[in-house]
Amino acid sequence: MEEKDSVIYTRRREEMVRKQIEARGITDAKVLAAVRNVPRHLFVSEALQDQAYGDFPLPIGEQQTISQPYMVAEMTQALQVSEDDRVLEIGTGSGYQAAVLAEIVFRVYTVERIYTLFSRARKLFDALSYHNIVTRYSDGTLGWKDEGPFDAIIVTAGAPDIPYPLVSQLAQGGRMVIPVGDQHSQELVKLYKDEKGIHRTDLGGCRFVKLVGEHGWKSL
Ligand code: SAH
Repeated sequence: MEEKDSVIYTRRREEMVRKQIEARGITDAKVLAAVRNVPRHLFVSEALQDQAYGDFPLPIGEQQTISQPYMVAEMTQALQVSEDDRVLEIGTGSGYQAAVLAEIVFRVYTVERIYTLFSRARKLFDALSYHNIVTRYSDGTLGWKDEGPFDAIIVTAGAPDIPYPLVSQLAQGGRMVIPVGDQHSQELVKLYKDEKGIHRTDLGGCRFVKLVGEHGWKSL
């Protein structure tokens, strides 16, 4: 049964990559290979596994969501990651985005503020042998100072403003992707840091759950 499932899901995943991700202009071969590899259906509850390869976000409990596959691919591509990179993710959630990054980079540091989600993702990373993912249960708006600076930082929850601790933990040459705006809609912002300063590009509109913490929204 499990084997049959995995054949079906592999086929659905292939279709997801072609129709939702390649067709919309994602070209980075590393990103495409990563989304082809990660078994997205294992990052949602059993009741939702059948919908895991659809073109939409899904609930993961605690009023949180796993992002739409295309959004994960777009943000990953925008980070311009490569195999030696150390990447910080704020908002572990289901763990799916962290796993996609872990397929590409040297190490992923991921922070989650809701204990049940943190603990479920940690178990899944172990079960799937993602040994290069380091997890932490805390307020990610403060970053992860002891492990910084990072080559890339990805925030997968919507922020009212860019939390300054994250900018300061970005390495020279580092890239950061973060949704910034009000509670209903945000702009996906990309920052690039070099010796001259911080350069900002806007990548388009998006909608994420709230980034809650000291340098985010004050409550859910
Ligand atoms: N990357 C996730 C998306 C999860 S939704 C995935 O692939 O499934 C966003 C997550 O950010 C939620 O789990 C939410 O609890 C978490 N979050 C919100 N504010 C946070 C904060 N200050 N620190 C850490 N995690 C936070």
